[in-house]
Amino acid sequence: MARPVPAIVILGNGSLATARKIAQLYPGALIHGLAERVEGADRVYHEFGATLREFYQQNTPIIALCAAGIVIRTLAPLLLEKGAEPPVLAVAEDGSAVVPLLGGLGGVNVMAREIAAGLEVAAAITTSGELRFGTCLLNPPSGYALGDLELGKRFVSDLLAGQSVRVEGAAPWLAQAQLLEDPHAQLSIHVGHAERAPAANELMIYPRNVLVAVSAEVADLPGAIRSALHQANIAVQSLACLLVSDLDMASAALREAALDLGVPLRFASVSGGVSELSRHSVPNATIVSADTGIAIAVATQPLDAAQIGRARGRLAVIGLGPGAAELMVPAVKAELARATDVLGYETYVRMAGPFREDQVLHCTDNREEMQRARHAFELAAQGRSVIVVSSGDPGVFAMAAAVLEALYESSEPSWHSVDLEILPGVSASLATAAQAGAPLGHDFCVMSLSDNLKPWAIIEKRLDLAAEADLALAFYNPISRARPWQLGQALAIVGRHRTPETVVVLGRDIGRPGQSLRVTTLGELTPDQVDMRTMVLIGSSTTCVFPRAEGGEWVYTPRWYGIKPAS
Ligand code: SAH
Repeated sequence: MARPVPAIVILGNGSLATARKIAQLYPGALIHGLAERVEGADRVYHEFGATLREFYQQNTPIIALCAAGIVIRTLAPLLLEKGAEPPVLAVAEDGSAVVPLLGGLGGVNVMAREIAAGLEVAAAITTSGELRFGTCLLNPPSGYALGDLELGKRFVSDLLAGQSVRVEGAAPWLAQAQLLEDPHAQLSIHVGHAERAPAANELMIYPRNVLVAVSAEVADLPGAIRSALHQANIAVQSLACLLVSDLDMASAALREAALDLGVPLRFASVSGGVSELSRHSVPNATIVSADTGIAIAVATQPLDAAQIGRARGRLAVIGLGPGAAELMVPAVKAELARATDVLGYETYVRMAGPFREDQVLHCTDNREEMQRARHAFELAAQGRSVIVVSSGDPGVFAMAAAVLEALYESSEPSWHSVDLEILPGVSASLATAAQAGAPLGHDFCVMSLSDNLKPWAIIEKRLDLAAEADLALAFYNPISRARPWQLGQALAIVGRHRTPETVVVLGRDIGRPGQSLRVTTLGELTPDQVDMRTMVLIGSSTTCVFPRAEGGEWVYTPRWYGIKPAS
């Protein structure tokens, strides 16, 4: 089962060599370097504290190449909150020390040993049980679940006090452990899927070797599954996954049941009922119970859910924001990390990267939107986790509408079963407005000047009415080589209703390298000042300008209209 890929965080160029050595140990791991301090990192960040806390909250393992104290102080505010505790390690810049700090149950000591071996130093392991037994008894390998952490801690301290132990059931990973084994010992490690109250002096470890095949029609799914397991004398901790017919893929009740039980939901297409479903997916299993709508399959070995049936495919249409990483919403960052396939116009796909080697990039031309949308559904319907990339916001003259159009036109059930989500971004008009001040501070109208997909006559009519209504205007796609005259025409229409003094903001490549912001007036604006990478904001009659202390101007449109209310 795949472990999450760690983030390697560095503060200076001095750590780059060590960081690269560590990155080699974790395929797909990216090196995050502090802006203006590190050259050649995979990703740039601006604020150490915020970056580290974001990784922590996303449950991403962290390898920070800096003093342990800095990491401790940075994460301390999060430690009192319940929730994720990913492995966190501090590694000396020169690679001479590897210190596991947090995430004992997330395998931090395993990582510390791996990194230390890669750097040819010793890991600073401080966990007594781990040192004595060579393994963390409370962190069994994937495929197994610990019964109770608090009971477990007491058990380990009894072992550390020198008591002997016996192992009941199959625990292959303990073969290497340095335990004082004795068949008559009072303490026992019990590995098995039977449901029972833990006896005193017993460490319960459950193999995840049980699969429940279930129909979406069953009422109160989590309750029904728990009670079916209970009747079959099977511990719920041994549940590896829920298996469902792929006809029920879009069922919200099933999704919630899987979340409630904390197990993955997998799908298969098998004719017949749940018994056939489970028998087909786990061939050598014993089918324990076949209640109406629920069948329990018990395998001889732990099950890897990723190998059973397939996952529900996911399609996320994401907005990158204008370009700068800090203007990308955290949900989009998390989505980029989980994607298996990324589709989009090449420039945007490159902007969204870098990607891991296992992520497949499908770059296409900017004009092939419908084809790209359909391709995205084809991939997602296979169970993959697909991203369609837009710049800015995906719902603003971008891919979200194309993806929904493709879905609306399709009668393919597997497309409609895909877990589709649109994740917003900061649109170019908003990013440009923010840099200028608040030119869109009152009612405004957003238009694309492209007549590729709508008649020019409609654009003229809308321009005329919006300008007459004294709305501030935001123009996307203002001009291109194929559309050279349209902007001049548009400005002439606006000029019928606004004075030449009307404030205009031009933002070019906002949030990207070489960005420029210019404040001018409608009278001075000519189409040659604008290109396809420019956002044009035209103020209303109330939009005003005043100088900023640091040079340049502030632009804003007051919140009121007509007569300023008394304040
Ligand atoms: N979905 C995008 C818009 C796509 S239309 C969004 O929400 O921002 C493309 C147009 O957006 C360009 O022609 C340009 O007018 C504008 N644009 C996109 N990114 C920009 C940026 N970084 N700076 C200025 N304008 C930008």
